[in-house]
Amino acid sequence: MTPSEIPDRDGPRDECGVFGLYAPESDVARLTYFGLYALQHRGQESAGIATAEDGHIMAVRDLGLVSQVFDEQKLRALTGSAAIGHVRYSTTGSSAWENAQPIYRQGQHDVALAHNGNLINAVELHAELRDQGVTFQSTSDSEIIAAMIANHPAATIQEAIADVVPRLEGAFSTVVLTSEGVFAFRDAAGLRPLALGRIGDRYVVASETCALDIVGGQHLRDVLPGEMVGLGERGIETQMVANGQRPAFCVFEHIYFARPDSILEGNRTQVSRRRMGEILARESPVEADVVIAVPDSGNPAAGGFATESGIPRDDGLIKNRYVARTFIQPGQELRKNGLKMKFNPMPEVVSGKRVVVVDDSIVRGNTTRHLVKMLRDAGATEVHLRISAPPIRFPCHYGIDMSTPQEMIAHDRTVDEVAAELGADSLAYLSLQGLYEAIGSDRSTHCDACFTGEYPLERSGDANGKFALEELAVVR
Ligand code: SF4
Repeated sequence: MTPSEIPDRDGPRDECGVFGLYAPESDVARLTYFGLYALQHRGQESAGIATAEDGHIMAVRDLGLVSQVFDEQKLRALTGSAAIGHVRYSTTGSSAWENAQPIYRQGQHDVALAHNGNLINAVELHAELRDQGVTFQSTSDSEIIAAMIANHPAATIQEAIADVVPRLEGAFSTVVLTSEGVFAFRDAAGLRPLALGRIGDRYVVASETCALDIVGGQHLRDVLPGEMVGLGERGIETQMVANGQRPAFCVFEHIYFARPDSILEGNRTQVSRRRMGEILARESPVEADVVIAVPDSGNPAAGGFATESGIPRDDGLIKNRYVARTFIQPGQELRKNGLKMKFNPMPEVVSGKRVVVVDDSIVRGNTTRHLVKMLRDAGATEVHLRISAPPIRFPCHYGIDMSTPQEMIAHDRTVDEVAAELGADSLAYLSLQGLYEAIGSDRSTHCDACFTGEYPLERSGDANGKFALEELAVVR
């Protein structure tokens, strides 16, 4: 069964979410379930939880949403003093069951591992390990990290992780479960987020702070780029395990990936996104009668644009929030109305009006083109697109599925050419400078390669595409 082809929003595809905690006096599986429930927006293909009790690791993982994979019975069976969890959207490897996480590996160290990111040297590491006789069950790069740690001869898990991490290239916010507790680490550039929090006397890590909130945790700080944090009976232990790389946090997390109520680098995401809309209104004003958002992603920036421009804001597009996960194919008759299953325009709001449509990004442009036509059909006299991010022109090698450059509408096109392609009366993007102004930071500590083509890591070739390990498995 494959998800239906009803067009989804046109943004980049989400990545993964991780969660981990040590709390022997709590129902760790249940807390992890709710942590993952809060992180569901980061991946909807599979979900999994592993717990550790008396030296044994148990794991349940399957394709589907968190609420589809787990029921009361499965959660009750997952007992233990520590747990990790994962929600997945595949960036390396297909969405097959074997690629669901957490991944379990036995060896010198028995570990379960969950990972958000993408290794750019996965093919080399995979080949090296296979030459050593290591076998793999999956085609995900996460199993490579798990195998390297599990097979490491060091006496302690801390020493094993400290030796393995410098050999990994790319993006990885990772949680590892052992019989001692949870070990969380981030790549030296800190490309993907990882927050550290406290629940009572115990500690918890999660991709985003919204997952700490839901379990009653308090956000303490972020795990630092290159840092390993151990959560166990002694509280937290921390150690720097990688360095020598400038910080390069993914600026797209601020624009799109993170939930609006999460805090990234000290900023509430909803507030930053509103500010992006305000700055966009200053940079690219337009005479119009109403500002509408492409829901939900464009909501905060549309609010900011309306406030700054003084143009009233209304809901001109209504979104059906549940349609993206239907497994029933719409059939020929309905497919031509496919987008209406996702968005429906409100003629009462847009008819006879000059409309500003605010969204946070355009990748391929198919959805946006349909939306423009739909609004005109509903009576809009002018449609002006305002995008609260710069044009996406380059692929991401660090865990985000952005399509190929040829599929990106802004690749090799001027802004006017893109506007013409989309059928809009005008189009403007937020400048890179405006983006950094909105998050109160600058390029020196971020990755913005999908906008600029300037990749922060030394080696960023795209040899390791999403299915690189599957291709390798076929070739070998
Ligand atoms: S290329 Fe874009 S999406 Fe990928 S890590 Fe950099 S900023 Fe984020």
